[in-house]
Amino acid sequence: MDQKAGQARRRGRRGRGAMGVGLAVLTVAVTTMTNGGPASADPYPNEWYPDKGTYHSFCFTLAFAQHSGLVSRARYSMDNNDGVEAQTVVDTDEQSCSAATDVVFRIGDLHGKAYGSTDCVRWNGNGYCDSWAVDIDWEVIKQDAVNDGYAARFTLCHEIGHTLGVKHYPAGSSPDGATNSCMLSLLTDTGAAWTRSYGAHHRSHINNWFA
Ligand SMILES: [Zn+2]
Repeated sequence: MDQKAGQARRRGRRGRGAMGVGLAVLTVAVTTMTNGGPASADPYPNEWYPDKGTYHSFCFTLAFAQHSGLVSRARYSMDNNDGVEAQTVVDTDEQSCSAATDVVFRIGDLHGKAYGSTDCVRWNGNGYCDSWAVDIDWEVIKQDAVNDGYAARFTLCHEIGHTLGVKHYPAGSSPDGATNSCMLSLLTDTGAAWTRSYGAHHRSHINNWFA
């Protein structure tokens, strides 16, 4: 794009203002918090705990699979050298969608309020989340982000983090005092390494749970 177009898009994004930042990535709703695991002072951190199967399996709906730019980045976020498998003890496995799939990637219309959203759609008998739906609003990302791919990668890292049980946090309140995790809740498309990594604090939670 030319310079003017780029500036216009940037202005448009900034025009979303503080509200857009706060709603960048929705946390799981709190209405079913009672389904969560045991409480603790530093609850690992989501109220919803993931189940612990052999694999953190994932699949793509037909609508999601139509967008190769999302599919490649979701695979990257899960099990390439830079994804969940590289960063944590969790093993991932791509499969066809079934009732047993842990993470179902879908295309969602989040009404301009977020790039992505994660919800638990099924519980197991222990009260842990057996299946998660991750909705990505690719239209909004393409409309608002300066770098669509970086924004998608950050959003996928963030939402997958929720499926691993990790809570997000607002800017300036990192659990270990650094802006170093994709669980930071904002809109970013810088492509910086931290935008696709979980940070030491979150990795520790994930590894302790899944180990
Ligand atoms: Zn979130």
